[in-house]
Amino acid sequence: MRFLNKIIIFLLYFYTYPTFSSNNFDLMPIEVSKNVFVFIGDNNDASDDNGGAISNTGFIIGENAILVIDAGPSYLYASNVIDIINSYSNLPIKYLVVTHHHADHSFGISKYLEINTEIIMAEAEVERYIKYGNRSLRQLSNNIGEEWFFNTKITSFQYKEKEYPINLDLGTRNIIIELYEEGHSDGDLIVKDINSNTLFVGDLVFGQRAPTSPHANIYNWKNYLDEIIKKDWDILIPGHGDIIKNKEDVLQTKKWITFIDKTAKEASANGISALEIFNKGLPNFIKGYKLAKETWYRDLPVLINKYEFD
Ligand SMILES: [Zn+2]
Repeated sequence: MRFLNKIIIFLLYFYTYPTFSSNNFDLMPIEVSKNVFVFIGDNNDASDDNGGAISNTGFIIGENAILVIDAGPSYLYASNVIDIINSYSNLPIKYLVVTHHHADHSFGISKYLEINTEIIMAEAEVERYIKYGNRSLRQLSNNIGEEWFFNTKITSFQYKEKEYPINLDLGTRNIIIELYEEGHSDGDLIVKDINSNTLFVGDLVFGQRAPTSPHANIYNWKNYLDEIIKKDWDILIPGHGDIIKNKEDVLQTKKWITFIDKTAKEASANGISALEIFNKGLPNFIKGYKLAKETWYRDLPVLINKYEFD
């Protein structure tokens, strides 16, 4: 009888727990420096194939504690990441830095709350996560399949207002967290691991693909990119795309936002609609970016609209 119970429990588990279904992330971290790891996301739009795992997630192991950078798109993704981290080290995951509120970076938060990780996120971004999270979760579930979002919840959490920069010690491993207000989002956090001279910059930098700017202040963002270029780092982890070692690669993001911003400003000043610009075809220079077309069509009308009401 006991044996039968076990079989029934196993079958129930098998059919209700999505890890056993086709919704797998195939996660494999890269060690960019000793005890500094990155899961590189699929550098595409969220889809049924990638389960929304399109941005990069990092983790840093100190002698006493672990810090994770970005929660990823869902409970399931965060659970997978945590399982993998636990296979590298049994130290506690003490901190989760959420670089900004966008779904692909924040929707795994509720999983970290279950294991009592302290969440570090800019106050303005916590507010946006709570305010817009459920709407965005519904849209994502409808678009790419609700199975990917099993148990994903937008939860308010104990939040201590912080003074930036924040200095943390993971055990002979010092971390500095800085706040960049009103740049790519209302509050982007960047994380520096001093030991390895690695900088995690979230979506202030996009690698290979077109940067998205729905909540951006492009003027500030451009200045922040100049600051990031001037900073001392050997390895830079963008929010999307491959690891960057060459400072010139940061300019790719600046070039795009400068161009789309200028186009939108001129259009709004001269009463030209986005459609008229689209009819001329894609500008040549943006064709070198991944997701150029999708981003151009999505972001240009938003920006023109914004400048018309400024
Ligand atoms: Zn992102």
